[in-house]
Amino acid sequence: MANKDITVFGAHWCPDCRRSKQFLGEHQIPYQWKDIEDDEAAERFVIEKNNGKRIIPTIVFEDGSFLVEPTNAQLADKLGLKTKASRHHYELIVLGGGPAGLTAALYTAREAIDTLVIERAAFGSQSAGTEKLDNMPGFPDGIAGIDFSNRLRKQAERFGVELLQAQEVVRVHQNRHYHCVDTADGSHYSADALLIASGSRYKRLNVPGESDLIGAGVHFCATCDGPFYKGRHVAVIGGGNSATEESLLLTKFADRVTILVRGGQFKATQIIQESVLDNPKIDVLWHTEVKEFIGQDSKLNRLRIENNQKGDQSDLPIDGAFIFIGLTPNTGFLKDSGILLDRWGFVVTGHSVQHAIERPTGDTSRDPYLLETSIPGIFAAGDVRDTSTKQVVSAAGEGSTAALMVREYLKHI
Ligand SMILES: Cc1cc2nc3c(=O)[nH]c(=O)nc-3n(C[C@H](O)[C@H](O)[C@H](O)COP(=O)(O)OP(=O)(O)OC[C@H]3O[C@@H](n4cnc5c(N)ncnc54)[C@H](O)[C@@H]3O)c2cc1C
Repeated sequence: MANKDITVFGAHWCPDCRRSKQFLGEHQIPYQWKDIEDDEAAERFVIEKNNGKRIIPTIVFEDGSFLVEPTNAQLADKLGLKTKASRHHYELIVLGGGPAGLTAALYTAREAIDTLVIERAAFGSQSAGTEKLDNMPGFPDGIAGIDFSNRLRKQAERFGVELLQAQEVVRVHQNRHYHCVDTADGSHYSADALLIASGSRYKRLNVPGESDLIGAGVHFCATCDGPFYKGRHVAVIGGGNSATEESLLLTKFADRVTILVRGGQFKATQIIQESVLDNPKIDVLWHTEVKEFIGQDSKLNRLRIENNQKGDQSDLPIDGAFIFIGLTPNTGFLKDSGILLDRWGFVVTGHSVQHAIERPTGDTSRDPYLLETSIPGIFAAGDVRDTSTKQVVSAAGEGSTAALMVREYLKHI
């Protein structure tokens, strides 16, 4: 199906319309949006399709067929996405199809370990959404995130990895020595080993303009995108360790870095605070919050900021803005799994497990393997892991390491 011909008829206030648009966005499927509140012809079309009723979202496909208020599973089915696995048991199930998960899967499948990857959105979702990966070894001109993800997916398919898309893992539990995975559609799978590669999300400010300008002046990674701002003026939003450390890094590229801090002081280690305050390229605006990201020609141009003590608003002209207000790991589905998480919810692995609890739960005969969690046979790699470095190359590297550790684990069971 030529997906570009999908039209979503809805209204800005409709939560199911937002869910459907989010689903299409996560799968990188282009569509046209028609708001029936602003478009009389669109409203008439919806009423005609629904026998006189005004039901939204009504989603029309290239072949003229349409779905009314579809669930995500119905949409996935219509779009031909594979959402059911061919079997119930695998040697390895990988949870998450980003660079860590897909790299691990292609390594294990290449060694004839039968491998299923379960992905809730599109493969490589975080890296796929990145306009350009400029720091990938072997790509001297950089590579578009979407191209990189498609290549990784194809490579995994070539080695026979089974890939499930649009399927969210909701629970991980044990049944005797099998590791069990439940998905949102009510399916149950089991495996000899699991790899958690579900990544994390950068926290956002959730103010107007932010989502629209991500990658076009709004960024979350100084190592990735700082070099685009040589000789420019950038803003850093946040006052913790990462905001201050990343500000120092940005001074290597930008001529001027303005840090916007909501409170009246940093929440960072003393030595970093001193380095920041001593740096002539950095200035700090205390008690300052961003209310809007404003673009010109589809590129960030200025920030609408507010002094939260005085209530004054003003515009700050800026070339780029970096948001460092924390990361949320995608580990909600591990809540009752017994897997050790750190205080922020990231998965603890290897030596850190030993420091925390001495031995993996249920197995006192050996120390945990590298990247193994507190439960023997369950591994973690990439951004979801505590102390990971939040880069594509390191996520892929951890994926390959985890695959080799899985191989070692499987030899002994
Ligand atoms: C805007 C932006 C720009 C970036 N730019 C760069 C850059 O230029 N260079 C660089 O090296 N890094 C960059 N990064 C960081 C990089 O994308 C990540 O470090 C990398 O993608 C981490 O890989 P991962 O496989 O660990 O996790 P992810 O890429 O986050 O993949 C995890 C996958 O798991 C899936 N998942 C989560 N929960 C579930 C569940 N319950 N069930 C099933 N699936 C689930 C997610 O949908 C996702 O596809 C950028 C990140 C962002 C957000």
